[in-house]
This record gives sequence, C-alpha cells and structure tokens, in this order.
Amino acid sequence: MNGKLVQYARRGAAAVLRSLLPASCALCGASGGEMLCAGCAAQFFGGDAAVVRCRRCANPLPGAAAGIDPPPGADAGVDPLCGACRVHPPAFDVTLTATDYAIPIDQLVLQLKFGHRLALASLFARLLRDAVLKQPGFVLPALLCPVPLGPRRLAERGYNQSLEIARPLARSLGVALHPRLVSRVRETVAQSSVAPEQRQQNIAGAFAIPDAALVRGRHVGVVDDVMTSGRTLNELAATLKRHGAARVSNLVFARTPPH
Ligand SMILES: [Zn+2]
Ligand SMILES: [Zn+2]
Repeated sequence: MNGKLVQYARRGAAAVLRSLLPASCALCGASGGEMLCAGCAAQFFGGDAAVVRCRRCANPLPGAAAGIDPPPGADAGVDPLCGACRVHPPAFDVTLTATDYAIPIDQLVLQLKFGHRLALASLFARLLRDAVLKQPGFVLPALLCPVPLGPRRLAERGYNQSLEIARPLARSLGVALHPRLVSRVRETVAQSSVAPEQRQQNIAGAFAIPDAALVRGRHVGVVDDVMTSGRTLNELAATLKRHGAARVSNLVFARTPPH
C-alpha cells in the first residue's frame, strides 16, 4: 500500500473506533454521551460567551458586551455596524456566527477540515442553528448553499466541510439546500497561505452561478466553517448579487477575531 492509502486506512480505523466508543465532549473529553458537555456549552457558547457583533461582518464591536449599553456610535435599536463596514460596506448583508475562531474551538474546526471528523459538522450545525434562533430579527434565507471547494481540493479531502455543515443546518432550519448553487471555476491557493495584499486577487473571479434563475430576487444564505478576512465570502456575495440575488446572509460557524 502506498503512504496515502495507509493514511486513509488509519483514518478509517480511527473513525470506526470513535463510533464504537460512547460519545465524549469534543472540547474537554468528559464522558456523558454528549458531543459538547453542559459546562463547555455554557463556557464557549452560552451567555458568558456572547458578544455584541457587527451585524454585517460579525466582528466583535469594541467596548460592547452583551446586555450592556450599545458601543459608541451604535444607536440602540439600529443594527450595530463596525467602522470598517460603515466605510466600505461588503457585498453581503448579514453575517451570523456561533463563536470566535480561537482556542480551543479552532482545534475542532481543524479536526473537521483536515481530520475527517465529520460528526463535528452536525454539532457545528446545531450551534449555528442556536445562534440563528437567538439573533433577534434574523430573517431566514430562502435557500442555503455552501462555499464550494475547487474540484482538486474536493478530490484531495473527499468532502466539503461547509456542505457537511450546511446539510443538517438546512434541515433543522427548514430551508432548501442547493449544494451546487455556486461553483468554483478557478482553483485558488488557500487564502491563509497568501499574503494579505494578494488575497483579493487570489479569489477574484473564482465563483460562477450555473443557474441564475435560482438566485434572482432571492435571499441566499451562504454556509462556511470559518470566516477570516471575509474576502472569499465577499467575492461569493458579489457574484450572487451580480446574478440578481436580493440579499446575502453568511452563516459561518466560527469568526476569526481581528488582531
Ligand atoms: Zn466539555
Ligand atoms: Zn462589520
């Protein structure tokens, strides 16, 4: 067997083993039959973890905490927006996230993306659904699509982690899922390995909409595992809008905090 096959076989064996063991908390390992124990759920996804975020890009608003006065510049009752979104509004209208992309959550995201731990996708979908239901005034999209992977990366990984999250999320929200609404027409280098000033160029023109009739006049929800700079989601939203989408809302499991 070549190295790659051995790797696949090992992964398969590990997955079978995990499925035979009683579920333990993905974050702290506590056994109890839950993928996320009550303590970790409260600590990382409960009220204490709640921050006031920009309605548009989901970055935390500085100086704002849940249940406390709105931050300077944000009017009570008006959608709070960060300074960057006020000056350069992105192509998407709303971004909703379940959590920050930070320790220890980042490890879970990496396990889904690179470790074939697909069971995590349903946990992420559940936490994202909870975030949707908690967000006052959130308008449900008419349809959902995942951020697509290019054919080469899809073949390497064997699955699209965003689609794995989108599938149970669509089901639990009662929204139609269109896995191939958007296609990637150009392989791009992973944004994380590109210098910040080259990221826009790296992603420009990467997406296409094979059937514009599905998009025209509709509110489209885009599902992704992580949002970092937001350039990929911005390019995708701009492509959707060029094809007539009325509104684009991002549903991302984790948001990288600004540094
Ligand atoms: Zn735990
Ligand atoms: Zn913003």
